[in-house]
Amino acid sequence: MSGPAVPRSLYDLLPGDVDALVAELGLPKFRANQLLQALYHEFPASPEELRQLPAEARAAVTARCPLASATEVRRVTSDDGNTTKLLLRMADGTLIETVLMQYPDGQAHPGLPGEPDDEPRNPASRRPRSTVCVSTQAGCAMGCVFCATGQMGFERNLTAGEIVSQVIHVAKFLKSRGEHVTNIVFMGMGEPLANYTETVRAVRILTDPRCFGLGQRHITISTVGVIRGIERLAEEGLQVGLAISLHSPDEALRQRLVPTASPHSVQELLTAAKRFFKATGRRVSFEYALVGGENDSPETARPLASLLRGTPTHVNLIPVNPTAGGFQRPSRANVLAFEAVLREAGINCTVRVEKGSEISAACGQLRTDEGNAIIAPDEISALPVAPRRGPRQAQPSPAPSQHQ
Ligand code: SAH
Ligand code: SF4
Repeated sequence: MSGPAVPRSLYDLLPGDVDALVAELGLPKFRANQLLQALYHEFPASPEELRQLPAEARAAVTARCPLASATEVRRVTSDDGNTTKLLLRMADGTLIETVLMQYPDGQAHPGLPGEPDDEPRNPASRRPRSTVCVSTQAGCAMGCVFCATGQMGFERNLTAGEIVSQVIHVAKFLKSRGEHVTNIVFMGMGEPLANYTETVRAVRILTDPRCFGLGQRHITISTVGVIRGIERLAEEGLQVGLAISLHSPDEALRQRLVPTASPHSVQELLTAAKRFFKATGRRVSFEYALVGGENDSPETARPLASLLRGTPTHVNLIPVNPTAGGFQRPSRANVLAFEAVLREAGINCTVRVEKGSEISAACGQLRTDEGNAIIAPDEISALPVAPRRGPRQAQPSPAPSQHQ
C-alpha cells in the first residue's frame, strides 16, 4: 500500500529533520530545541502559539512546513467519564477517531495493552493511567467481518504527523486537567502494519526524548497479522509491545472472520510471534474477539490452548462489541468457560473490561461515516472531570456497558 499524498507537517519531523530545517533557514541552532519544546510540551493549536520563536522565525518555519494540528469536530464521553471518543479532522478534511481511556485509580489494568508488566506502578501515586488509542488509517482494507472500521472500507493511510497529532491533541486536553498521556495503543481505525513506514516513524517521534519522549515500553502496536510487518518490526530495535489479533486457532474459521488472512495465517502468526519475542525480548499478546456462535465455545478454546501451551504470552479475550455487522455477543457462560479452559492450560488470559461501548468507542466500533450522541466543541469546558474512584475489577461479563 503506498504512502499518503499528504504534505509533511512539523509533527512529521524527527529531531534531526528539525535541526536540518533550522540550519536551512539560516536560524541559530538553539531554535530547533525551542521549536521542539513548543511542539511537544506546549501543544500549539496555531502557528501564533509557537511563542518561543520570534515572529520572523515562526513565519519562516511554518512557510516551509505547516503546523497542521488536528481539529476537534466532536467529543463524546462515556457515562463514567473515563472514556472519551474524539472525532478529529486532519488538514485535508479527512475524519478519523481517537479514543482516550482513563483508569483513575492509577492501578495496572489487567488486559490493558501498553501496560509494561515488569514495571509495577506505585499505587500510592494515584495518578490516572491515560491511554490514547490512535488510528493509523482512515478506514481499513482488511475487512474483518465483526469490525465497524473494516466494514467502512479503506480511505487512506495517515502520515506519521497525523498519528502524532492525535496524541498531541489528547495531551493538550489532559494538560488542562493537570494530567498527561501515560500509554499509547495503536488500536484505533486501520491496520498499523499495512501503513508500516508512517507507523514506525510516529513511534520514533513519540518516543524520542527531544520530541514527545514517552517510554517505548508504554506503546503497543496491534496487528491483524501482517507477517512481513511483524518481521520488520522485530528488527527495528524498538521496545514496543506487540498484540496480534488471532481470533481463532483454526485456519478456516480465521479466514471466515478475517477474509484477507492467508490460508496458513494461524501457523504463520505463531512463528512470527516467537521470532518477535526472540529478537526483542518483548512478550507478544494475542487478541481474541469472542464472537457469539462463531469462535466462543469451549470446543474452540481447547485447540487454542494446545496451540499456545508453553508459549510466553497473554491472551486478551474481547467479547465482541455490537456493530452493524449483526454479530452476536458471546453468552456470559461461554466467556467464563472459554477463559477457564485457557487458564487450566496455564495460559495467562484476561477478559478485557470494555470501556465506551455505549458511545461506540469500544474495540471495533470506530467509524466516521455515521453519527453518535455528540457533544459540540463549545460545550467541552462543561464536561465533568473523570471522577476518582477505587480500584476496579475486571469483570468477565459480556454486559455491553464498558470498554476494553
Ligand atoms: N487493525 C488492528 C488494530 C485495530 S483493531 C488489529 O486488527 O489488531 C483493534 C482490536 O479491536 C483488534 O484486536 C480487533 O480484533 C478488535 N475488534 C475489532 N472489532 C471488534 C468488535 N466488534 N468487538 C470487539 N473487538 C473488536
Ligand atoms: Fe482493520 Fe483491525 Fe478492524 Fe480488522 S479489526 S478491519 S484489521 S481495524
